[in-house]
Amino acid sequence: VQKINLTNHTVFLQILVHTPAHASLGSVLTYRCDTRLPPGTLVRVPLGKRETLGLVWQEANGSELPTEDKIRAVSGVLEGIAPLNAQWLQLIQFCAQYYQRSIGEVALNALPLKLKGITPAQMQRRLRKVSPDKTSPNKPDTSEPTLTPEQSIALAQITQHTGPFLLFGSTGSGKTEVYLQAVHNLLTNKPHAQALIMVPEINLTPQLEYRFLARFAPLFGSQAVVSMHSGLTPVQRLKSWLVAHQGEARIVLGTRMAIFASLPQLQLIVVDEEHDPSYKGSDGARYSARDLALFRAKIEGAKVILGSATPSLESWHSSRPTSEGGRIVRLAMPSRVGQGVLPQVRRIDMRHQPRQAVIAPPLLQAITERIQRGEQCMIFLNRRGYAPVLHCADCGWKSACPHCSAFRVFHKIDRSLRCHHCGFADTVPRACPDCGNIDITPIGRGTEQLEEHLAALLSQVQRPDGSAVRIARIDADSTRHKGSLEQQLAAVHAGEVDILVGTQMIAKGHDFRRITLVAAINPDNALFSSDFRAPERLFSLLLQAAGRAGRDASLGENSEMWIQSYQPDHPLYAALKAYDYPTFAAQQLQERTQAGMPPFSAQALVRAEARSQESAQAFLQAARDAALHEMPHWEGWAPVLEQISLYSAVPMTVQRIANIERAQMLLESPSRPALQQFLAGWQSVLHACRKLDACKGLIRWAIDVDPQSI
Ligand code: ADP
Ligand code: ZN
Ligand code: ZN
Repeated sequence: VQKINLTNHTVFLQILVHTPAHASLGSVLTYRCDTRLPPGTLVRVPLGKRETLGLVWQEANGSELPTEDKIRAVSGVLEGIAPLNAQWLQLIQFCAQYYQRSIGEVALNALPLKLKGITPAQMQRRLRKVSPDKTSPNKPDTSEPTLTPEQSIALAQITQHTGPFLLFGSTGSGKTEVYLQAVHNLLTNKPHAQALIMVPEINLTPQLEYRFLARFAPLFGSQAVVSMHSGLTPVQRLKSWLVAHQGEARIVLGTRMAIFASLPQLQLIVVDEEHDPSYKGSDGARYSARDLALFRAKIEGAKVILGSATPSLESWHSSRPTSEGGRIVRLAMPSRVGQGVLPQVRRIDMRHQPRQAVIAPPLLQAITERIQRGEQCMIFLNRRGYAPVLHCADCGWKSACPHCSAFRVFHKIDRSLRCHHCGFADTVPRACPDCGNIDITPIGRGTEQLEEHLAALLSQVQRPDGSAVRIARIDADSTRHKGSLEQQLAAVHAGEVDILVGTQMIAKGHDFRRITLVAAINPDNALFSSDFRAPERLFSLLLQAAGRAGRDASLGENSEMWIQSYQPDHPLYAALKAYDYPTFAAQQLQERTQAGMPPFSAQALVRAEARSQESAQAFLQAARDAALHEMPHWEGWAPVLEQISLYSAVPMTVQRIANIERAQMLLESPSRPALQQFLAGWQSVLHACRKLDACKGLIRWAIDVDPQSI
């Protein structure tokens, strides 16, 4: 850190710092410095009693300065790091404004944590370590396949137009190959260009990382591909960040957070599985990395490709013809590469199956036959644990969590009752805690029980070599230890597993070649969910799961996806059977237009957490009343308010978690700009309501713009 002495040439700078949320202090503070520092410069500044990382925003306007002796001096500049560029600062500003967060919070959270505590000596060492890798690249990977006609057309469109693009391609249609070749073209034609590849969850898509490395490390050096995700250590993350910031990394592969990577030569962004809910943050700024990707591409003059077999309805709607107002170019790749055919979808009517049958007899028969032929099956159920509730039939006791408005889940493996919301766990009681009945019974079933049940049902079945069936389970419980997911996946790939049981974790991305049967045990719940996005999620999950089967053409063309349902004729399943996403999307969009829901309206949620449900709701209600009755006296407020629907405060679906009561209020508007204007004005009112007597127990509140679950 360079020491700065005061001179007559003192300048005043607005510097972004990360102040505690809702601190009375803003997050843009004024400091003095005796050198001009360009916007984007990383500095160290005093804040209270400590020193913290700051980012120069702009020079301060002299007329609004507090008295000079109150202004503290910048402690030093982080040397050897170029300032963040103007586009990056613009991205931060947009994110803060759009998601109603302080700009300091957004900016500092977008930087690697490790930058904060680093000493100049350490920095120099790190920088030396990331200096360009001099080893001569291995022989270029010559295995780049010839594109199919559909892939060629898509790639040609991407080359010729500016986009943005929606690559709407079936699972196995070769979307990844299109990304790879688009990146390849860019990097060879423009010697400094950089590409950002975003994936939903990096540890679930190691194959993608591997494919990018295998293709590009030989061509551009091993330093050319770096990743950014929460699985990295702070030091690894800093290293990736620096390599990208210095322009040495040509490709950054990462999850949601990678949207904020500093990429001075960014020219292409790929958002793979763009519909995936994990692109939307669930705390802090709650930004959508996909939406930010579209904005970032625009300000950088970069191309952006959103890819999915089941696009989000927002993206799908935006990719309607330009003549109807579409703003995204839709590129379709309906066919699977090679001989692979999509599995046949079979719906089983559970109303006509023996009562209590977990696995309908015809499905069990089909599974048995596959195993006997040496093929693999994948069975999924979206609920982990053994049973969601334990119950006493005598007195009605249920395994409620004492701290949450939810039941604790029975895990048989360690005989525990665990709350999936707050983590509270203890051992299963020997008898009913209320009446002493020793016969307490599980209600419903989860993956653990399904695994046990299948083992019992298939105990007499033999594999082709006469050995017994091998069943494995993959869910959040079985993969808690680092590396265990990779290990289990490797076992499936190696053919050491015949039946894979799991939650939605196993539906995503994995390329299991010998799976020829996929079954969804109980997918109906989502059809009746109060969340209007539930059907969209279900459709995409089932289609993705189906995509796991039939990848290996040599196993014949008879792969199957089974759906057990009490509503087999539901239009969602009919569209799934036909692999007809456009029809499904049209039905959903029709319903959404009629109900005035996104993408035909913009939404925001305010969530409040408090010691009591009353104070959580009182806070929201007070803010609502102020918006409706006091704020209309403000100049220009009435026309904004006119375009906003403010619903009443309601308890959240899980109303209490870890003894904290939760309530929410929905805001809706046909106009996104109006909603933005409203929220910006309303912020100060929300801050003020916090101080009201009725809101005493309030702990925190936050705005969620474009909420993904309601
Ligand atoms: P998607 O990302 O759409 O699910 P992938 O890009 O993973 O599809 O492609 C599916 C499989 O087909 C992969 O194993 C990939 O290597 C292979 N593949 C893709 N494009 C081609 C091609 N043009 N020729 C031969 N194989 C291809
Ligand atoms: Zn009892
Ligand atoms: Zn709990």
